[in-house]
Amino acid sequence: MDEAAGGEVKEAEVVMLLSALAMEEPQRELKPEYKAGVGVVYEVSGINVPADKMKIAEEKGLLEPLKESSFAACPRCGSLILKIMLKCPNCQGQSLIKSDILVHYECGFSAPVEEFHQREGRYLCPRCRKELKRVGIDYGRPGIGFKCQICGQVFQYPMVVLSCDNGHEFRIDEVELKHYPSYRLSSQLKIMRRIYDLLSIARTRLRFKGIESELLAKVKGKSSMNHIIPLFVRTNPPIIVDFILDEKTFETQMLQTLVKLMDLDVKAILVVKPFMEDKIRRLINPERVRVLSVANEYDIPDLVISEVLSIAEP
Ligand SMILES: [Zn+2]
Ligand SMILES: [Zn+2]
Ligand SMILES: [Zn+2]
Repeated sequence: MDEAAGGEVKEAEVVMLLSALAMEEPQRELKPEYKAGVGVVYEVSGINVPADKMKIAEEKGLLEPLKESSFAACPRCGSLILKIMLKCPNCQGQSLIKSDILVHYECGFSAPVEEFHQREGRYLCPRCRKELKRVGIDYGRPGIGFKCQICGQVFQYPMVVLSCDNGHEFRIDEVELKHYPSYRLSSQLKIMRRIYDLLSIARTRLRFKGIESELLAKVKGKSSMNHIIPLFVRTNPPIIVDFILDEKTFETQMLQTLVKLMDLDVKAILVVKPFMEDKIRRLINPERVRVLSVANEYDIPDLVISEVLSIAEP
């Protein structure tokens, strides 16, 4: 859809850009903008992030969609690069002039004011040569209009035709509309930002121990739905590290996490706050999911690493 130049931004970079924004301007609303040659982008910390990358961030729960804006697109190829052409409704010619129009009522001649010669302050009709005496009685001034220089037709509104960069032409009522939401940063993103840093530390230290892992990994479940895993540890079997730390959305997140864990046939480490621990333990199978209760977030790297090692090692 909107590849081109903006396609350079990687998903992981989008997360970092959004995380940086969560620190600097947590209330910022991100609006879609059309950039020539790129498509629809959102400016995040000075970088143009394409709409499809923002959609992925929304699916990860990092962004919350707000109202949508619509953009005009070609109904045949979907291109947003459109230009407006004004044509003569009679001959479809594109050689138009815009001017103040005069109409001589008696003979019905209408033309731009420049074509009526003046004699002693009065207009002369170029068709019938009569003098135009009183406005509203002999002649009218309907205002601004257009004249086709090819067929000579005078009209109030030209035909508006749009054309895309692939040369498709269409009328304004045939236009297709593409909708893009504005976004605000989710409360999950703000927590995510800190946790992301801590999991990144855990990831580096696991690598020193010869264990590879991936941050924000996309993993396909049994239902063939894709899940975003904060830290996916490539042990055998793999271990996923997930967390529920947002007190405001605790209940909904707990349900989402349980659904996710049921859909994935893996061992899991679930990082939670102490007050959530009892509630969660009652709902999960301890064979598969280790609940890691952390009072201090800065303990996360150490605790995650020792849990990973205890699960991975025979
Ligand atoms: Zn087109
Ligand atoms: Zn014409
Ligand atoms: Zn006339």
